[in-house]
Order: sequence, then C-alpha cells, then structure tokens
Amino acid sequence: MPIGLYIHVPFCQRKCPYCDFYSAVPAQGQQELYTRAVLESLRQVPFFVDSVDTIYFGGGTPSLLGGGGIARILDGASKSFPILPGAEITVECNPHSALKEEIKLMRSAGVNRLSFGMQSASDEHLKLLGRLHTVAEVSSAVTAAQQAGVEHISLDLMLATPGQEFSHIDAAVSLCSRLGVEHVSSYLLKIEEGTPFSKNNTAALCPDEDRQADLYQYAVKALESAGYQQYEISNFSRNGHISRHNMKYWDCQPYLGIGPSAHSFIDGRRRYFPRDLAGFLAAANPWDLLQDDGTGGDLSEYLMLRLRLCEGISFKTLSKRYPQSDLQLLRKKARPFEKAGLLTMDDERIRLTVDGFLVSNGIICELADV
Ligand code: SF4
Repeated sequence: MPIGLYIHVPFCQRKCPYCDFYSAVPAQGQQELYTRAVLESLRQVPFFVDSVDTIYFGGGTPSLLGGGGIARILDGASKSFPILPGAEITVECNPHSALKEEIKLMRSAGVNRLSFGMQSASDEHLKLLGRLHTVAEVSSAVTAAQQAGVEHISLDLMLATPGQEFSHIDAAVSLCSRLGVEHVSSYLLKIEEGTPFSKNNTAALCPDEDRQADLYQYAVKALESAGYQQYEISNFSRNGHISRHNMKYWDCQPYLGIGPSAHSFIDGRRRYFPRDLAGFLAAANPWDLLQDDGTGGDLSEYLMLRLRLCEGISFKTLSKRYPQSDLQLLRKKARPFEKAGLLTMDDERIRLTVDGFLVSNGIICELADV
C-alpha cells in the first residue's frame, strides 16, 4: 500500500507570537546541514515502504530550504522508494519568502501543490498577528505559483483573531476566489501556552467563545457561497481539490514523518522524533532518536479522526475495518446528538453537522468510547 511521506522543516524567518510549532530562526548554514540530515534519514529508513503517493513538506516554513533544497530531498526520496506517478507533492510556504525563482525550481522538481499562510486579507490584522507578509505578497506568490504551473494551491485563513469582523472574512474569501485558489484551510486562532500572545494576554482582545462560533459558521457559509465545499472541520475545496496527504491522517492511513517533532503511523504503531533539532543534526543515524508512542489506528482513534470529515463514518466500512465494532451502541450513543442537531445519521453513515463541528471534541469523546 502506498504511504504518505511528511518532512518537517523546523525553520521560520521570524517566530509568530501565537505559534508553538517546532520551529526557530535558522543559524547560519543550518538549512544546508538540515537538508543533509534529512537526506541521511531517507537513506536509512528502517521500515519497508512499498511506495509513496503523497509527500508533504510542513513546518516551520519549508520554503526556507529553497527550491534547490526541496529538489535534493525529493531526489533523495525517489532513491529510497518509488514515488508513484501523479503523487501529490505539497510545500508549505510563507508568501513573504516564496520567491518566483524558488517556486519555479520547486515545480521543476515535481512539487504540484503549494500551501501559503495567507491568514488574513487585512494588512492591519497581519501586522497584529506578527506576520511578515502583506496581502499584496499573497497575491504575487499565488500568481507566481500559477505561472510556474503549480496545479493545486491552498491558502490558510485564520479565524477569531483580535478585531475580526464578518467583513474581514468576506474580504479574505473573495481574495481566495479572485485568485482562483481551489483549497482553503480555515482555523480558529489558538493561543498556545508559553507563546508571547499567551504571556501578554492577547486572548483578552480575541472574540469570546460565542463570537468564535459565529465567525466559524459565517466563514463556512461564505466559503460555500464562493464554491468552496467543506470536506473537513477546517478544510474546504473547489472542484475536488482536497488535500490527499491530510486525508491519510483523517482516514488512519500509514505515513512516515522525518524531522524533529515529526510523527509517523506505520506498521500499526505511532512514533515520533523528539523536538530536538541539535540532536537530529548531530545523529549519525537520526532514526536512533525515534520514540515509540504505542499502537495506533484502533477503533476509537478511527472514529475520532473520521468524524472530523464531512463524509463522516460509513457503517459498512466501519464493520469491515473493525468487525468487533458495536454499531447498535454507536447509534444509541449518537441519538441524543442527532436530536440536538449536532449530527445526522441514516442507514449508511453518521456525520457531524457544522454546529456539531463546533463542539466536536465532546461528541467525539462520547462516540469514540464504543
Ligand atoms: S510562519 Fe507558521 S510555523 Fe512559522 S512561526 Fe509563523 S505560524 Fe509558526
């Protein structure tokens, strides 16, 4: 079975004040050292990989490796296992650092999907969020990607930021549409502990929970009106341009992660690399650092992940994958949520509604316990 390959790139040009992803401003020459360490990891993969049909460079800001670095890693990957024709190859980019020539290099290396962190269509809000880019740079980056022939482009839109109004969401959605982008990921701002936003209590400036729900529901409607169909709690696409790589996560399919903080789900087990760039760079064999995180892909995990998707859970697939599952109990537990309008259920499947997505954690915990 083909798997997904995830490469974590732990570098950013500057740290955004709300973010706790594992990334830092690279020291002089560190990008080159890191590229070599990833290539070494690819040479020494300790698992059998039949083939790969999605590759995702995430971070951090992977575009900081440059088109040349991404190309070398893709070349290294192709020497370690077959990359299937038509594989989806994504690179996350910061619009500020996504230069035209670098995008062209990535495209010639096989990259066919770029995901840009737009976050907002207001320069004032971008500044407030500590982002380096401007709205004009988002447009230029998307145009450069289109001119280079990148087929799939995704933009991130952040919700519930300080001062955000419905009109800001309208402006962002209309920018995505005008630019001809086919995929939008829309996340609520989450202020992580230990970040500058948490220390200076930016939460006090953010919309409260009720308002967050209103903004989320408004965004879903605005995106749908612009032709972006919701397919996951936070993801929307036009013309079927869904993220094939991320679908593997939500469908409990195997993937291999490389780099500090990268997670894997392979051979039925979850594993991860520690958040330790220095250790990763120093290791003769980076796989020696890999930590085991126990078995994965059990019934409750499957239910939890699948309920994030608009298509929800098919009873038929559930019985096939988990013959021990108690469908009657699942239906019984789901009924109160159905009555409350938080999920829908028919003979074939069970799925959360948009209102259900807003309180998904509670519902998922209850249903996953069957
Ligand atoms: S660019 Fe992305 S990964 Fe880097 S600090 Fe900002 S939000 Fe975090």
